[in-house]
Amino acid sequence: MTTTRDSGALAHLDALGQLSLFRGVDPCDIAPLLREARQRDLAPGDVLLEKDQFNPRVFILLEGRLSVHTQLDRDAIALLEAGDVVGDMSVVTGQPASAFVRSDTHCRLIDLPADALWAVFDESRPFARNLLRLYVRRIANLNLVVNSAQRLQQEYRVHATTDPLTGLYNRRWLNESLAFEISRAQLRKRPLTVMVADIDNFKQYNDQHGHVAGDQALKGVAAAVLVALRGSDMAVRYGGEELVVVLPGAELEEARKVAERLHRAVADQPIIGHDDTPLPPVTLSIGLANMVGGDSPEQLIARADQALYRAKHQGRNCTVE
Ligand code: GH3
Ligand code: MG
Ligand code: MG
Repeated sequence: MTTTRDSGALAHLDALGQLSLFRGVDPCDIAPLLREARQRDLAPGDVLLEKDQFNPRVFILLEGRLSVHTQLDRDAIALLEAGDVVGDMSVVTGQPASAFVRSDTHCRLIDLPADALWAVFDESRPFARNLLRLYVRRIANLNLVVNSAQRLQQEYRVHATTDPLTGLYNRRWLNESLAFEISRAQLRKRPLTVMVADIDNFKQYNDQHGHVAGDQALKGVAAAVLVALRGSDMAVRYGGEELVVVLPGAELEEARKVAERLHRAVADQPIIGHDDTPLPPVTLSIGLANMVGGDSPEQLIARADQALYRAKHQGRNCTVE
């Protein structure tokens, strides 16, 4: 329950004087404020401010902890401790409160009409400076919250679009990005080639050397591919042992050179087993297809896949377009 009673003004002078908001403020300038002040006690769970409601009062938290919520059934977006000012934002902006404020613990507050606070603001430069400092600090905190939320979002995006074994993009990324790359290439009237690469006889490799060795080979292929590609190319683990590489700006001739580099890099890539034993290299079969007007991502990949199929039939470890 919320209780309101007369403050016994001077009893609060000391408490207020210790708050950073009133640091350096002449007690004579605070005295008129205290005449208007009321003490307010909140039990845990009491709602002090309702979101979207106009609020003509400012509260200074003397004891306890308040939490700020965009919705009451959601986690707090901020916590307020002794010395914090509450309700001032809606008073300053003249807008309804932007969030709910609720007591987490028993709280003791000073409840002030906004006009009385403005009167101190008009009288006392130290008070104005303290208030400014409080706002700048709040903005800095808000920036921290926004930055860490953005960082989290970025991390989540990397997780969601990366294959954990190889570190290459995953199929989800391709589904989201290839259509964009195609329309960008069409808009700029630039070529774009797609490569589908598949490890040869990989089932046999797994059977002979074990699944862990197979995983090591997959990692090695990914590392070799990344070294062999140009900066603008994008490599995706499309399926088990199948990669898709998107080559923006590349005609077939350029893509053929990239494919040749890829064959060499994979052949030269050392593959080390779990007990440090060197394993034989693997080879790739590669299919190439370049974009023609009106191609959908599916059509483009299907053509590269058909070329890959022909490469397998031509004896593997080669590139076909
Ligand atoms: P081809 O030359 O025609 O492509 O023959 P292949 O044996 O490579 O093709 P197939 O489709 O018969 O077998 C693919 C194998 O790839 C079978 C599967 O166990 C293996 N594989 C797929 N994903 C992984 C993986 O993440 N780790 C390991 N170790 N093996 C994988
Ligand atoms: Mg294969
Ligand atoms: Mg395959």
